[in-house]
Amino acid sequence: MKLMVIGCGGVATVAIYKCCENPIFTEILLASRTVSKCDALKEKLQSKTKAKITTATVDADSFDSLVSLMKEFKPHTVLNVALPYQDLTIMDACLECGANYVDTANYEAEDTEDPVWRAQYEKRCKEKGFTAYFDYSYQWAYDEKFKKAGLTALLGTGFDPGVTQVFSAYALKHYFDEINYIDILDCNGGDHGYAFATNFNPEINLREVSANGSYWENGHWVETKPMEIKREYDFAEVGKKDMYLLHHEEIESLAKNIPGIKRIRFFMTFGQSYLTHMKCLENVGMLRTDPVMFEGREIVPIKFLKALLPDPASLGPRTKGKTNIGCIFTGIKDGKEKTIYIYNVCDHEASYKETGAQAISYTTGVPAMIGTAMVASGTWAKTGVFNVEEFDPDPYMEALNKYGLPWVVDENPKTVE
Ligand code: NDP
Repeated sequence: MKLMVIGCGGVATVAIYKCCENPIFTEILLASRTVSKCDALKEKLQSKTKAKITTATVDADSFDSLVSLMKEFKPHTVLNVALPYQDLTIMDACLECGANYVDTANYEAEDTEDPVWRAQYEKRCKEKGFTAYFDYSYQWAYDEKFKKAGLTALLGTGFDPGVTQVFSAYALKHYFDEINYIDILDCNGGDHGYAFATNFNPEINLREVSANGSYWENGHWVETKPMEIKREYDFAEVGKKDMYLLHHEEIESLAKNIPGIKRIRFFMTFGQSYLTHMKCLENVGMLRTDPVMFEGREIVPIKFLKALLPDPASLGPRTKGKTNIGCIFTGIKDGKEKTIYIYNVCDHEASYKETGAQAISYTTGVPAMIGTAMVASGTWAKTGVFNVEEFDPDPYMEALNKYGLPWVVDENPKTVE
């Protein structure tokens, strides 16, 4: 099966490494903006896999650049592990060239000052009640087109979004008649030793964390100020951490796809030093996404900041500690209320030793490969645009155990107030 992977950053490195371990992928084209990164990865992996690896330069913001490469390579499936800004262009190119589409993050506009985008955004804020810069409407709107083309688009197969929704589908299938409450807990207990760095793309990460929080309750969104809701949780294999309620994209799809749901919240752990640095950067304007004039030329502050911060891909050798990501479900089984917690613990140093990338990239890259394999093998075979919880979770859960992200079901967990 011919796979084209777009992007060659931290997540892509792990996804490609894992694709090379899965015999379903017989030819893999690594295509990204900086082809030297693809060449270096090919050099590292070619001798360890039967898959034939090739590389190419592509500008994923350009439909024509994508189409010309896809027409030449003829991929069965395209895995987009570039940035969320490119999602729609890559989906258009897949439709043009007859390829299935897989990604790990929903569409975001790069220029949030664009008046056409802003008008649509403000309308959505009013209608839906949350102000995040991203939502699924843009990609869900492609459903008919993918159906007509007889193709699958699988959205958000990282860890969160991704595995958290597979956990939800699995809990519903095996443990509950109805799920009423989901708390998604994302804990990174890793320490890279820098005063400040982001674990994945700084632009995407800082935008997410500095935005308003929100959760889904009784059929509508409740919005909070950034970091307004704080809780402490004692994470298995990590220990006690402060965590904060954030808006997160899988809340939107789970609210649509889990019948009987009453509340979904998402919490992420942050240390005080990270939050203080971020607030300071925000206060001085360094998180701005609109261009400003500097010495006679335009610069976008957050892009300039990205150039100054450590490359997330470089954190691997320095990061020690573990991540613990999972979901606490409360619902009804045989007329009785019950609660379970499904989670995975991933070790930064072990991830680095295996793939050359830290656990944030590892916990995203492994599910990126698994989701791609589900589509490529026809195990998940429906035409249209789907989120991961809309398929049978069992083969995906099995693959998580096989490819390095084993999970635990705790049937007596501590809940979050
Ligand atoms: P990186 O910034 O490390 O990598 C992005 C890669 O995409 C780089 O290789 C970059 O090229 C390439 N790229 C960017 N723009 C273009 C373009 N126009 N054309 C071609 N290639 C391009 O990001 P990460 O690996 O950290 O993240 C990848 C994706 O994974 C993101 O969408 C992120 O939101 C998502 N993610 C999802 C998570 C989940 O759990 N679901 C968790 C973490 C991340 P270059 O090398 O030239 O810069």
